[in-house]
Amino acid sequence: MRNIQAQDVIDAVAKMCMDANRYLPEDVLSAFKAAQENEDSPVAKEIFRQLLENSDLAQESGLPLCQDTGLAVLFVELGEDCRVEGGSLRDVLTQGVRKGYEEGFLRKSACDPLTRANTGDNTPAVIHIDVVPGDRLKICMMAKGGGSENMSRVTMLAPAQGWEGIKKFVVNRVAEAGPNPCPPIILGIGVGGTFDYAPILAKKALMRKLDDTHPDPQIAAMEKELLDEVNALGIGPMGLGGKTTCLGLKIAMGPCHLASLPLAVNVQCHSARHKEVVL
Ligand code: SF4
Repeated sequence: MRNIQAQDVIDAVAKMCMDANRYLPEDVLSAFKAAQENEDSPVAKEIFRQLLENSDLAQESGLPLCQDTGLAVLFVELGEDCRVEGGSLRDVLTQGVRKGYEEGFLRKSACDPLTRANTGDNTPAVIHIDVVPGDRLKICMMAKGGGSENMSRVTMLAPAQGWEGIKKFVVNRVAEAGPNPCPPIILGIGVGGTFDYAPILAKKALMRKLDDTHPDPQIAAMEKELLDEVNALGIGPMGLGGKTTCLGLKIAMGPCHLASLPLAVNVQCHSARHKEVVL
């Protein structure tokens, strides 16, 4: 059994929270540059220039990429041959989020859903823990902004609606969302599972790199087809028109009940802030 010190986990999570809010992943920056080249509209080109400048400014100044520094969402894989010494895993992860948002001077967004009272330290985080083979602890952290999360949806389609029904729902969702999720967006699509599991699939799909290709050629083709349909809407960056409404669309599938076809659309804004660490 391998021991991992609680303080190492706390420090790693805190650093991820701070880094995610200052440094966009390389694949997102590359997608901005490619889209800037590809756009015909001067307004769309200018928006991508500003997004790239915003990223440079955040790196240079240490200020967050966006005023909405997000709720912290953690996907954790705990190897069954390791354990955290010095605290329970969930508590240690929470301490890391607290430390990161306090020491990074990041806006605290977590609040009571009805009283709206702020918890004051951006905790509790949303934490998903899976136990996996091995002796490593893998933590993926996402700073999820409220504007794009508000535009996300889950629905239970009839099985007969199939792929055509999925496409229709996703395209309608993006059209109705319009400029609200701060496009260009990234879409995580969860297909299957149950009412509660489809959105987890969708959010996990958002952790994939924009420039990867799904290992299943059929799903890869579906991702491309749906991405093209979404971009044909012409909403464009910031909703001001253009070819790039969506930078990437990732599908995650899971088996479902024979009477169901759960579908979740998790919308991610252009400020796609996530980090990963393996301890
Ligand atoms: S949706 Fe994204 S870019 Fe827009 S305000 Fe929220 S975090 Fe910032």
